[in-house]
Amino acid sequence: MTRGPGWIEVDVDAIAHNVAAVQRELGTTPLCGVVKADAYGHGVDLVLPVLMAAGVGMIGVTANDEAHAARRLGFRGRIVRVRTALRDEIEDAAPAHVEEWIGGLAHAREVDAAARAIGRRIGAHVSINATGLSRDGIDLRRAGGPEEVAAVGALPGVHAIGVCAHFPCEDEHDVAEGAEEFRSQSAEAAALLAAGVGRRLERHCATSFAALSVPASRFDLVRVGAALYGDTSAAPGLLRPAMRLLSRVAAINVYPPGRTAGYDRTHRTARTSRLAVVPLGYADGFHRVLGGRAEVLVGGRRAPVVDRHAMNTLLVDVTDHPAVQVGDEVTLAGAQGGDAITMQDLERASGQIAADLYTAWGRLLPRLARRGGPT
Ligand SMILES: *Cc1c(COP(=O)(O)O)cnc(C)c1O
Repeated sequence: MTRGPGWIEVDVDAIAHNVAAVQRELGTTPLCGVVKADAYGHGVDLVLPVLMAAGVGMIGVTANDEAHAARRLGFRGRIVRVRTALRDEIEDAAPAHVEEWIGGLAHAREVDAAARAIGRRIGAHVSINATGLSRDGIDLRRAGGPEEVAAVGALPGVHAIGVCAHFPCEDEHDVAEGAEEFRSQSAEAAALLAAGVGRRLERHCATSFAALSVPASRFDLVRVGAALYGDTSAAPGLLRPAMRLLSRVAAINVYPPGRTAGYDRTHRTARTSRLAVVPLGYADGFHRVLGGRAEVLVGGRRAPVVDRHAMNTLLVDVTDHPAVQVGDEVTLAGAQGGDAITMQDLERASGQIAADLYTAWGRLLPRLARRGGPT
């Protein structure tokens, strides 16, 4: 691994723990382990072997890279795409045998055309708008909706395997209502798709939150991503966070009271201040919105990020941490000593969901696997 200004550390044992915990909660319901966005930034190469060892027979991807990587790693189970793909992507996914997510009749025609190009039918899950996400599902309650589903089923290149939906909100009540609506609408859609075929279609709509907090949403399988990485508000205490974001103190300087620090003069020193330079910034995925709001751990204690961030640098006030020296490890997410910068801390500081941050870190920074539990 090349050493960079910062890195992410992925706790492989935590992921194994989470997979086992989710499987225990689910009982006999099959788990589709979602590894989109390169396993939510944790790395398909690290996560796939864990899923395979746990006997997970189905994964969810978005990009073809994830599907091809899974096959290279020896995964022989089913691969389902959990978004609508472009025609070129669908054709390029042929060697990995990806089941496609059908987002309406026009999209189904693209899948059908791709099937002709690759010379075989393509397995497909037809999205319906039972939960009211109104993103890619066919609306069965709209005039012409049922006919649209039937027309998808009649396309020769589309081999309907499942009926699916996706929840708009992580709210128990909202999910429970959506699951009830999905129960009736997915039965209707399955009947339309399987007309004359007599095949039973798989029905699925649950994500981590739904699967763990509303068992009635589980149906034939659940598509679980965030929980595998320990990032869900459902089932508190059940799961372990799997990613830390780390760097080191590159420089420390002392400034007198009344100086402004960083761009736009947003911070003013109220006393003689020791400011530590950490060589990460918004171009590394530590978003600018965290400036002046986030805290980091250094020397096992919290210290505030004071400036508004540069592209590759941020400033931490370590005045109250006299022992901190150049070269000391800085934890921007995750545990250090007895404390931790949690995903909830980062969500509060950024006003964004944590996945928006850590998927970027996974893309932009070197990744180090850790095994053997918490240090
Ligand atoms: C990302 C995604 C999932 C997994 O959601 P989590 O909340 O991460 O468990 C399931 N289904 C679809 C369609 C998705 O896009």
